Amino acid sequence: MTPCTTFKGRRAALFGLGESGLATARALVAGGCDVLCWDDSETARERAVAAGLSVTDLSAADWSDIAALVLAPGVPLTHPKPHWSVERARASGVEIIGDVELFCRERMLAAPNAPFVAITGTNGKSTTTALIGHIFEKAGFDVQMGGNIGRAVLSLEPPANGRFHVLELSSFQIDLAPSLQPTVAVMLNIAPDHLDRHGTLAHYAAIKERIVASAETAVVGVDDAASRAMAERRIAAGHPTVQVSAQTELSAGIYADGSVVTLARGGRELPIADLAGIPSLRGRHNGQNAAAAIAAVSTLGVNAATIREALPSFPGLPHRMEEVGRRGRVLFINDSKATNADSTEKALSSFNRIYWILGGKPKEGGITALAPLFDRIARAYLIGEASEAFAATLGKAVRHQAMGTLDKALEAAATDAAEDGAAEPVVLLSPACASYDQFKNFEVRGDAFRNLVRALPGVEMNEQGAMP
Ligand code: ADP
Repeated sequence: MTPCTTFKGRRAALFGLGESGLATARALVAGGCDVLCWDDSETARERAVAAGLSVTDLSAADWSDIAALVLAPGVPLTHPKPHWSVERARASGVEIIGDVELFCRERMLAAPNAPFVAITGTNGKSTTTALIGHIFEKAGFDVQMGGNIGRAVLSLEPPANGRFHVLELSSFQIDLAPSLQPTVAVMLNIAPDHLDRHGTLAHYAAIKERIVASAETAVVGVDDAASRAMAERRIAAGHPTVQVSAQTELSAGIYADGSVVTLARGGRELPIADLAGIPSLRGRHNGQNAAAAIAAVSTLGVNAATIREALPSFPGLPHRMEEVGRRGRVLFINDSKATNADSTEKALSSFNRIYWILGGKPKEGGITALAPLFDRIARAYLIGEASEAFAATLGKAVRHQAMGTLDKALEAAATDAAEDGAAEPVVLLSPACASYDQFKNFEVRGDAFRNLVRALPGVEMNEQGAMP
């Protein structure tokens, strides 16, 4: 845990008692702060009390001696409208911050030069964060990894000289961290997302740009216009910037062309790594993630030989094109995290002969955007609410059948794929839908798929296994 000593002897309000809220409350208490905790949900309050915290109704509290409101990142700060606790804090002139801000202040105090890598972007944050953490670990460094992935930032070990913190940050967390000054910031990409919470794309991009603007070195993906503009602004201002691409051969920066990642500098090109044969880094999108991770770790002194040695053992993350097993030539892939067509497009582009399990609770636009990839689909198996609509989109272009549930779909797909003569037929769960009609969340759906695959006779499991 990282005790928050910067509020020692003072009183803070904390709203939002989810996983990270509880960790934040504990860290504040451990640092000597008097914390008034609250949540609108009674269940969350009960959980906090059970965890040994006391709760105080912030709507009835006296805010005059409260030094800060520490807000959980899921609670609306601006859009669709500020939460009542935010309005209350503003009315009382109380600053509003989040757990990442508390971490940054602690680092400034305890170890301002301790390496801190912050990763953001619309897509690929978790993969890139995990990959950076993995390479540092293989390089023998003392690494603490978390934030928006895995462990809440304040439940990690405290900042210390020589200790590397690798944190995935959502835009919500950045919005609540005014003194963010990472050693290296990684900004992968910007696409319309969470606009319900950020208003406009320009506002969303402006929040993400804060991480880039405040970093000593920024690693910026330049494959979309908004991110490219951020890189250009930094370069024009003379700040250290490494451009990264999975689309263009850059004259300066790190780019992935096919599976090869190359460093371009001063008119010279140096291949650094080949991702071919690394299952956890399949697909062009992972070329961007790997190039960004390589740029970040190189900036902090990891050499190319160590990077090359570390990459093949990267286990990847569960539910993101996760290789769960093989039976003969048939490969089983769990891509349950793909809850929209955009994500599923990445998986369909990565394989050639696909037995595709899809469906669930459909998103706007359905799967029409995937039509250019339909020639890769040997057969489609539909589950959940989206079945009828998706059947209409697949039409005559793709052989398909409505299966109702995941277990039926897997059984049929596994049988059909076994009879396919291709070198590597793939049974792919990439639903392009939310899971809520049949599962609690995408993790439960992916776990169910993995368990069903592993129960099939003759399946060899993937030994390595994805990171939890
Ligand atoms: P995040 O943490 O940003 O949600 P993840 O690493 O968990 O990202 O990846 C989630 C999904 O986003 C992946 O399954 C893949 O479909 C897609 N994705 C991953 N990396 C990228 C990228 N660099 N560009 C576009 N899409 C990506």
